[in-house]
This record gives sequence, structure tokens and C-alpha cells, in this order.
Amino acid sequence: MAGSLQTQIAERLTQIRQTLPESVKLIAVTKQVSAEVMRAAYAAGVRDFGESRIQETLDKQAQLADLPNITWHFIGHLQSNKAAKALELFQWIHSVDSLKLAQRLNQIAAAPIAADLSQKPMLCLQVKVLPDPTKYGWTIPELLHDLPALDQCTHLNIVGLMAIPPYGIDPSETLGVFTRTRDLAAQIQQDEPKIKHLKMQELSMGMSDDYRLAVAAGATMIRLGRTLFGDRPEIF
Ligand SMILES: *Cc1c(COP(=O)(O)O)cnc(C)c1O
Repeated sequence: MAGSLQTQIAERLTQIRQTLPESVKLIAVTKQVSAEVMRAAYAAGVRDFGESRIQETLDKQAQLADLPNITWHFIGHLQSNKAAKALELFQWIHSVDSLKLAQRLNQIAAAPIAADLSQKPMLCLQVKVLPDPTKYGWTIPELLHDLPALDQCTHLNIVGLMAIPPYGIDPSETLGVFTRTRDLAAQIQQDEPKIKHLKMQELSMGMSDDYRLAVAAGATMIRLGRTLFGDRPEIF
């Protein structure tokens, strides 16, 4: 049973990877996926897991504690009161969505109690290049405004942008969201001489339905759930 699941996931991974440049990091999104299935994915070669809830991740990390070299990616909305826990559990946070949250994370990472963090957390900033009342994140003008303050968060490794297109738009608009995000990262990198610390080399964009468009636009990390593990129950 576990063997055939592993084979199935391995086949899907192989199919997807064949279409990707080697430099693109594939993150397996395992929210609502059981630890048993994650174990099969691990056996199939997955080392990057994406989760959107703290408690679910705590449970799974306990169940998978025997598996070495997993990189955990947080991809959901993070409440400030869970920021410290998120830094303990995750090496990456893709979904930093406000200056307040970034400053809170920076403050925690700076504190002596955080000294056992093996490395500075890797973060992306979530941007909304189209209006989207259902999502958190910066609009482009808001992000440009907050950049100097974000650049002061020197205990964090801010390394790029994360984008999720609004639900239900057509493929050309979706591609537009991804190219606009890429261009924004390039613009920040080139045109902001006052930015000393933060970097814009990573683009976390693309999910099961749109990752091909995201990769075409230059995504460096894609976050795939359903295409690897099948549909999730609709409990969100
Ligand atoms: C759930 C989720 C994904 C994965 O979505 P799929 O459509 O299952 O590939 C990717 N990114 C974020 C932020 C998510 O919440």
C-alpha cells in the first residue's frame, strides 16, 4: 500500500520535473495530507514540504522526526502571536505579508533566546499585483513604501517575493500577475540603491493549476499540492 503510493507520487514528480528547469525548487504542499502520505513522498525523494498551519506542522514534525534533512516552508497567513513558533518550525516563510509581521519576526530572530536557530530564517514578501480582497500582502505601492523599513530587518534573510493570482482570472491575466511580480523583483534589485540588505532573487509563485505559467515567467520555487496528492477535502 505505502509502496504503491510512493510509486504513484514518484511518477507524478518525475512527470512534473521533466517539464521544469532544474533550478526550480518544487515544494510539496502537504496541508491536510497525512504524515503517512508525507512519508511516502519523502521516500519518493521529496525534501521540501509546505504547510499553512502551525499546529498541523507540530503534529507532523513529531510523527516524521526520524526523517532527516527536511526543509519546512510556511506558506499560510501567519499571526504575529505565532511568529516565534513559526521560526522554530520552519526554515522558510514564503508568506510574510505585512511590515508589522516582518518586524516581529526580526525582533524574535534577534533575541538571545533565538540563538539556537541554526540560521537566519529565509523569507519572501507576499505581493498583490492585482487587487484581491481575499488575500493578505502588499500592493506594489505599499511594498515600495515599506522597503526601507524591511531593509532594516537585518536578522532576517529576505530573499524574494511570493505571489498568488486572484482566483478565477484567465490564463493571460495569471501570466500577467507572474511577469509583473518578476519585473517588480528586478526593479527593486536594480533601482533601489538605498536597499542594502534585502535581496530579490527568489520568486515563489505557481500552484497546481498555474505553475507552468509561473515557471514561464521565471518562478524559482513552485508550491504544488493537488497535482501531487489529489484533491483536498474542502474544509477551508
Ligand atoms: C494550498 C496552497 C498551495 C498548493 O495549492 P494546490 O492548488 O493544491 O497546488 C500553494 N500555495 C499556497 C499559498 C497554498 O495555500
